Amino acid sequence: MRHLIIICLFSTALVNSTPAPNVARYDHFRLYRVFIETQPQVAMLQQLEDRSDSYSFMGHARNVNQNLTIMVAPHKIAEITELLERYELQGTILLHNMQELIDTEQHSIKPKNTPPEDFNWLFYHHLTTINQWLQLQVNTYPYLELIRLNESYEHQSLIGVKLAKNPENTAIFVECGIHAREWISPASCTFVLNELLTSTRADVRYLADNFNWFIFPVVNPDGYRYTFEADRLWRKNTRPYGLCRGVDLNRNFASDWNGPGASADPCRYDFAGGSEASEPETQALAEFLRNNVAEQRIRTYFSIHSFSQLIMFPYGYTTDRAHNYDDLVAIGKKGAEAIENAHGKKYLSGAMIETIYPSSGDSVDWVYSALGIPVAYTFELRGPPDSTNMFVLPAKEIIPTAEELLAALIAMLQEATRQGYYANDKQKQEL
Ligand SMILES: [Zn+2]
Repeated sequence: MRHLIIICLFSTALVNSTPAPNVARYDHFRLYRVFIETQPQVAMLQQLEDRSDSYSFMGHARNVNQNLTIMVAPHKIAEITELLERYELQGTILLHNMQELIDTEQHSIKPKNTPPEDFNWLFYHHLTTINQWLQLQVNTYPYLELIRLNESYEHQSLIGVKLAKNPENTAIFVECGIHAREWISPASCTFVLNELLTSTRADVRYLADNFNWFIFPVVNPDGYRYTFEADRLWRKNTRPYGLCRGVDLNRNFASDWNGPGASADPCRYDFAGGSEASEPETQALAEFLRNNVAEQRIRTYFSIHSFSQLIMFPYGYTTDRAHNYDDLVAIGKKGAEAIENAHGKKYLSGAMIETIYPSSGDSVDWVYSALGIPVAYTFELRGPPDSTNMFVLPAKEIIPTAEELLAALIAMLQEATRQGYYANDKQKQEL
């Protein structure tokens, strides 16, 4: 009889169990870190990436002496184990269950209806809260203006702010959240904005008073929303292309479009899009920059990403050196030093193609080569290249990461100023 009751309870539970919500899950997905030593290993990994979407590569297998992180679906664990053995690939398992991290992170997300007064940097926030917080700042500070660019594929405006205390200042453009899953980017950019508005530190005040700032915390609003509601690890925008969806907006700009480090396959994470600047988000950003670069004297551009702890400058698509390569090296070095002094984290600085991997169609290469913005950097924030949580950075790291970014910006802008990049025409004549 007792057995019968247990069986009955069990079947009732099954009948009453609610179906799982329609969101992507990563139960028992593992992260592997491999070190590639031979050409057959390179070829095997390239085939594996081409043929199976059960393996998510962070970057691509290109050559020997290269580290690579790969996320592996649970039904491929036996296969990858056998392949690693057969090809004598050195590898470690960084993480055994991606979903566990994503579940834990839920406690670090403020609810969607959080009032903007409760916005802070101890939690991650929905897009609506970020935008309401921006509006609140605009209502508070007379020198701050809300900017709405054209709409995304899902008809959401790209919203940013312009901080301008003096029309004579040169301007800095800070582009954040172009890759949806890199939540530390919007979080750090709003932190920097808040410091520019409220800090009493002399070095921060100098930046707020002597530069005008365009800060866009989320330039991929559809993708960012999608990471909260459907798939935490989504990177692209959400526009459908055949069976798959999403264009990597940071491969969609007109800088050697669809060249190395971009894919023509809509199902890939680095899909370059249907054509140059095919996406409404890319068009909105590019049009705004083109229309304002001269008038607003935009001389500096920062694109904020995660992870890998890098400070990179053009180019991503060619090994040719940028015309002011030595200056960019010196400025980047100052940024990395400032970050290490802040909390001891080590960031590498260099040209994009030398530092991370080839990439084409990215925004920083485009603003540098097409618009002539001479000081242009891509940041990859925490964690390190062998990060065990990748884009799911614990919320307690938001403030220290953002402090590092601010420290780097201060040092880099000081160095670029020293090099004469922001001198106006009158000052230049005097130099
Ligand atoms: Zn990114």
